[in-house]
Amino acid sequence: MSAPLLRLTRIVQEYGSGDTAVTALAGIDLEVAPGELVAVMGASGSGKSSLLSIAGGLAKPTSGTVEVEGVDLAGLSPKRVAALRRTTLGFVFQDYNLVPTLTAVENVGLPLELDGWPRRKVRQAALEALAGVDLTDQAGRFPDDLSGGQQQRVAIARAVVGPRRLILADEPTGALDSHTGEIVLRMLRARIDQGAGGVLVTHDARHAAWADRIVFLRDGRVADQSVASRPESLLEGTR
Ligand code: ADP
Ligand code: MG
Repeated sequence: MSAPLLRLTRIVQEYGSGDTAVTALAGIDLEVAPGELVAVMGASGSGKSSLLSIAGGLAKPTSGTVEVEGVDLAGLSPKRVAALRRTTLGFVFQDYNLVPTLTAVENVGLPLELDGWPRRKVRQAALEALAGVDLTDQAGRFPDDLSGGQQQRVAIARAVVGPRRLILADEPTGALDSHTGEIVLRMLRARIDQGAGGVLVTHDARHAAWADRIVFLRDGRVADQSVASRPESLLEGTR
């Protein structure tokens, strides 16, 4: 059996200290295998975003270990963690700040360009990522000439461009209309089916249905887990 892409062990996250201390995560264990999409659900304040930030090395836990492809993040220099975030991890958040003077395809290719990829390969990977969110036709347009939903899809394509093996998405569909949200979920599912692993934080049970497994958080603990049952209509759509 291959090592999990992500392994969180006894993760505790506390913010503040003394009387005002908040325990956001109170001992979480979670593994994500290649080809597996795990949905994380739970009320506001249950620790979902804290969990995702820690999984992606954006925040350090108070205690516990984070391993990505078997490598303990605590043993890496900040530089190595940053490199991992550029190459292995894909973060999908709600905010999207595109560079206005770059076209859609240039915006999407930016992380790879910064990583020193050759120009032709950057363009090829960026076009593939744009195709994944149904934006091939808009590749040459500037952000100002795109609708809000299209701009968000460009940002999401940029978040997953290239060979990222672990995709972390924090309510990526929160601000999207249902059509755009479905395009994004379909793209995410396709990447997972090609062998990436993913964690999808969502409020919406219909979106969680795209996952293989659902983890429910309550007060920073895993309260329940279930196998997601994908409705037939969704399955047909992804085949
Ligand atoms: P969720 O994403 O499920 O809404 P969060 O991980 O954002 O949950 O928050 C979990 C708890 O930790 C909440 O009580 C929240 O107020 C608190 N919290 C989150 N981030 C911080 C922070 N930077 N400083 C202090 N408290 C925080
Ligand atoms: Mg949150």
